[in-house]
Amino acid sequence: MREKKYDYLIVGAGLFGATFAHLATKRGKRCLVIDKRSHVGGNVYCEEIEGINVHKYGAHIFHTSDRRIWDFVNSIVPFNRYTNSPLAKAPDGKLYNLPFNMNTFYQMWGVKTPAEAQAKLDEQRREAIKRMEDDGIKEPRNLEEQALILIGRDVYEQLIKGYTEKQWGRPCSELPAFIIRRLPVRMTFDNDYFNDSFQGIPIGGYNLLIDGLLKGVDVKLGTDFFNNCECWRSVADKIVFTGKIDEFYDYRFGKLEYRTVRFETEVLDEPNNQGNAVVNYTSPDVPYTRIIEHKHFEAFGNAVYDNPKTVISREYSSEWCDGMEPFYPVNDKKNQDLYSRYRALADMERNVIFGGRLAEYKYYDMAPIIARVFNYFD
Ligand code: FAD
Repeated sequence: MREKKYDYLIVGAGLFGATFAHLATKRGKRCLVIDKRSHVGGNVYCEEIEGINVHKYGAHIFHTSDRRIWDFVNSIVPFNRYTNSPLAKAPDGKLYNLPFNMNTFYQMWGVKTPAEAQAKLDEQRREAIKRMEDDGIKEPRNLEEQALILIGRDVYEQLIKGYTEKQWGRPCSELPAFIIRRLPVRMTFDNDYFNDSFQGIPIGGYNLLIDGLLKGVDVKLGTDFFNNCECWRSVADKIVFTGKIDEFYDYRFGKLEYRTVRFETEVLDEPNNQGNAVVNYTSPDVPYTRIIEHKHFEAFGNAVYDNPKTVISREYSSEWCDGMEPFYPVNDKKNQDLYSRYRALADMERNVIFGGRLAEYKYYDMAPIIARVFNYFD
């Protein structure tokens, strides 16, 4: 039998495909990566506009507590010290720090010590519990009731309600309580959104990370696997598939559903528009959920003024339909049952590895994606 040209055909040049290609190539395997998009990187791809790396498929902040993963990505490209500390513009017109911490509580109630903040939170929670008891409600029946007993009326109304309703496209009173089983609060003046030991952005942008991973690997862009499956199957011994699992099986059991985000990107003729990379809009009167000002991911302090322009993206959460980017898998029974049926087929494949957020129909942050690939090689 004639030897095939490649050991692996990797469908998808996103973080999963690129990391797989990198590690396989290092082990002497021959890899071909194809992607239907005109660029590599999948959703971490950045488009340069006015000298600024614009996160084209949504803001991406790398974070992990796994030293091995941090060292690995930094061996490809060094990361900067970006720390995610978003702000929220609330219905009352004020700006609040996130995640909920002593700064937030000071801004909301003027409390200055953890004891004062705790007393205020307890008072608000007790009020919510009493209201439920008076109404004969034993267990929170929806997200609104759950949030009220976890954090009280002020934080719920100013920082949770409007944002969550825009994200899910439904009133909080109609969303299931389990979505927020916990609402972590921090009794310190600490605006770092993540609890991880390491976080940052690749210096020079994410494209350098992906280009570094794909160095020395054959890549073909603008190439959809499904346009010529048989041909692509014949070029390699094994396929690593990172596209949509339902599409791989020609949607034979039906289509998996997603939620998506629409971006409205604008160049502004000013150096510094909102002073922070991420500002959430928690008012129901503002149609978008967040504004991202991309330069703040890579320029700190007065370096922000080195470029007289800035680029912002407004994010609108929306239902997904064909032709839109499939961003977030829907975590309900219907979709999870459907995925299980496709998964059962995938488990029987001997020469196809299904990996990544679309093939596994699961939301993964970037670091866990790399961990998944490490697992294959470990
Ligand atoms: P993808 O990046 O989607 O790559 C899959 C690739 O396969 C795509 O390039 C696609 O074009 C290609 N493909 C699909 N079908 C075919 C086909 N038939 N033929 C050829 N090519 C095909 N993670 C974090 O850690 N921090 C964050 O701040 C963060 N923010 C995010 C914000 C948003 C809006 C989203 C959606 C995700 C975010 N993530 C974040 C998660 C991160 O994007 C993922 O972990 C990562 O992109 C997953 O990589 P992947 O390779 O599995 O998928």
